[in-house]
Amino acid sequence: MKIHEYQAKEIFAKYGIPINPGYLCHNVDDAIKAYEKIDHNLVVVKAQVLTGGRGKAGGVKLAKDTIEMRNHTANILGMDIKGYTVDRILLAKAEDIEAEYYVSYVIDRNTKSAILMLSKEGGVDIEEVAHSTPEKIHKIAIDPTVGMPDYLARQAAFLLFDDIKEVRQAADIFQKLYKLFTETDASLAEINPLILTPDKKVIAIDAKMTFDDNALYRQMKINELFEPTAEERKEQKAKTKGFSYVHLGGDIGCMVNGAGLAMATMDMIKLYGGSPANFLDIGGSSNPTKVVEAMKLLLSDQDVKVVLINIFGGITRCDDVAKGLLEAFKQIETDIPIVIRLTGTNEVEGRALLEGSKFHIAETMGEATRKAVELA
Ligand code: GDP
Ligand code: MN
Repeated sequence: MKIHEYQAKEIFAKYGIPINPGYLCHNVDDAIKAYEKIDHNLVVVKAQVLTGGRGKAGGVKLAKDTIEMRNHTANILGMDIKGYTVDRILLAKAEDIEAEYYVSYVIDRNTKSAILMLSKEGGVDIEEVAHSTPEKIHKIAIDPTVGMPDYLARQAAFLLFDDIKEVRQAADIFQKLYKLFTETDASLAEINPLILTPDKKVIAIDAKMTFDDNALYRQMKINELFEPTAEERKEQKAKTKGFSYVHLGGDIGCMVNGAGLAMATMDMIKLYGGSPANFLDIGGSSNPTKVVEAMKLLLSDQDVKVVLINIFGGITRCDDVAKGLLEAFKQIETDIPIVIRLTGTNEVEGRALLEGSKFHIAETMGEATRKAVELA
């Protein structure tokens, strides 16, 4: 789950990380009031959207007086940035910049720990730096049993700064950011750029945070900040019904029992040149109501042209599943072709029950997937 810069900055401030002061504004009037409160001529108008690269898209503008500030606010509000419409801006004090740095903590699966990433190439597209000059990015794996002690934070800070006064400020920020990163179950806490001002202050002027969805149940305050997209809302609703559903944008709707089989099904669809509309694990049950709910979920996606049902009968018996499907499709009206692959316990009985129905029956996964791709 992502949050906005202004929300991340509020968390930063709570942990004592220095930020440039700012106010959230929904319209020009808000911005005029905020401008008075900031009491500093040079300000920055920043689009608040849940995507990166706002600067490049024209969503971050400096203003030196009320007129410029008003114009930028009016222009940025309503702007489209990578499919997100800007409905609020952050008006913040613009800091003078002597140097820009990149700082982040991310989860690293290789070292099974958080890593601190640092670069003197801040303010720019970090993916580009990582691609063309990877040696300019430092990575420090943090032992979770040790955390971020003073010596390590200072050692890290010396990678970016030479002056001890600046090193101390940066080290303090690295420690606070680590605390915040772990305590909020974040998967990313990024400052790009962390700046050095001409009067030698180290400040975060941007803030980006992403959280582990699986930890949101114990991060109630953060969970409240969730602003789901239409697709995410659907995924959330599916979750409350006991499904694990992820929208993928293709045209073959998938209903599968088991996450591993669901992944394999998507791979097979791709292999045969098709495109899965979703990932859907309905779990190990042949309950007709569950099948009905799952079908409704799949069919609510306008892009779905065919549905592929892939069931492996283990503890769940295929004849039970077949009965469940027949029962379910008495309740669902659809012209969309349905391909079913049933295998495992009582598969012969299961397939026999579906004989003569409108379903396309397949025995193997390859056969079923090819059929679905062809129909789509
Ligand atoms: P992003 O493009 O979404 O990452 O937005 P940022 O907040 O990182 O801003 C992009 C760029 O705008 C920064 O790298 C700076 O060069 C510039 N910028 C942002 N805030 C300030 C500021 O307070 N003062 C100055 N001088 N430049 C700023
Ligand atoms: Mn940035």
